[in-house]
Amino acid sequence: MYFSTRVKNEAARVMKEKWCCQRAELLGLLSVNTAGEHGSPGLFFTTENAAAARKVFSLFKKGSPLKPEVKVKKGSRFRRANTYLVRLSPQPGLDGFLRELGLGEGSLPLSQIIAQGCCRRAYLRGAFLAGGSISNPARGYHLEIVAPNRETAADLVAVMAHYDLRAKVIERKGKLVVYLKEAEQIVGFLNVIGAHRALLKLENIRVYKDVRNNINRLVNCETANLDKTVEASLRQVKKIRYLQDTLGLSALPVGLREVARARLQHPHMSLRELGQQLTPKLGKSGVNHRLRRLEVLADGLRDENGE
Ligand SMILES: [Zn+2]
Repeated sequence: MYFSTRVKNEAARVMKEKWCCQRAELLGLLSVNTAGEHGSPGLFFTTENAAAARKVFSLFKKGSPLKPEVKVKKGSRFRRANTYLVRLSPQPGLDGFLRELGLGEGSLPLSQIIAQGCCRRAYLRGAFLAGGSISNPARGYHLEIVAPNRETAADLVAVMAHYDLRAKVIERKGKLVVYLKEAEQIVGFLNVIGAHRALLKLENIRVYKDVRNNINRLVNCETANLDKTVEASLRQVKKIRYLQDTLGLSALPVGLREVARARLQHPHMSLRELGQQLTPKLGKSGVNHRLRRLEVLADGLRDENGE
């Protein structure tokens, strides 16, 4: 199952007791539902998520004595998912219900409908259920809600800001997409809408990914260290060759001469390995010390020769 579907199914199961929250959630659901033509001939909600359709149906029933209808359009061979249509056909009491939801003429403004925290959360939950999606956190972090117009997009951004969620908006195919990109922010959003199991799932994946990233970082560091060793060896070989060409290695004190020869023969060896080649064997710091002396000697000679 897609992670998105998982989150929606969980969010759809959250059912608040108070009508204030139910109304706010219904407003969220209907505000972003792009097929919702509010007003005549009735009120529509369409979705491919069965749980979301069920929720709208039961919220219609809880909030009004009106009779909602549900239609299912079977998915085609090309488009597998079913489409669910929940509709309130024109009937006495519909206009009053729309006004109560904040959708009709002369209805309450959004700010009043979601004045309380419980209702703000419900509004966001509804909006996500109707127009939201979230990518599989194993692949990347992206959560979005597609809004039908600029006003709704701005409302969503403002409501999210209550929870320090810094949503951004882009335009895509004439619609406005409100989105969050950071894992931290997405976790925050799932918390707000009450999708706690999805939140834990995401956190688990995130921890796993972080461990993997740390391992990658470690490997990168080791590669970088290795590069440094190779670089140092190349520099040493160059300077020893210079000594060989100018002084001749036989002119060097025996300790230095041995290390110089070993380095020329084994340019890829680490200092420790190089020490093992000598008789008597020499530790890493001893080898390092002699190689430094060789380098200093070469630098000094190059200076004297004015090169
Ligand atoms: Zn409430």
